[in-house]
Amino acid sequence: MRLTKQRQLILDRLRQSRSHPTAIEIYDEVRKDIPNISLGTVYRNLDILSKQGSIRKIETCGDQKRFDGTPEDHLHVICSSCGRVQDVESEFDINIDNFINIDSEFTITGVRLEILGLCPDCENHQN
Ligand SMILES: [Zn+2]
Ligand SMILES: [Zn+2]
Repeated sequence: MRLTKQRQLILDRLRQSRSHPTAIEIYDEVRKDIPNISLGTVYRNLDILSKQGSIRKIETCGDQKRFDGTPEDHLHVICSSCGRVQDVESEFDINIDNFINIDSEFTITGVRLEILGLCPDCENHQN
């Protein structure tokens, strides 16, 4: 499948970012290269990319959706105050094969595991 130039740029910017940006942050980044791109186009392409499995959507509680350029399974730690997301290195194996046989009548299709915490900025604000 041929990616449009816009979609390729969105994917590139997201892959370069380590911060799990929101759609608006991605929009601001992509606009530096394509000044006339619309926010709707960014949303639409993010949607297509995540349905294709090229990127991931991260649902954080209440806050704006964030996007992840790393499609492989990995763990996130999420700030419960500001919604900031970081990848964490862990030996913990979240491979779906480990959950296929859990006691449920559901067919297991994915695993989503989030660790909650307070980021350094939010912790400093509390003190
Ligand atoms: Zn925070
Ligand atoms: Zn991530």
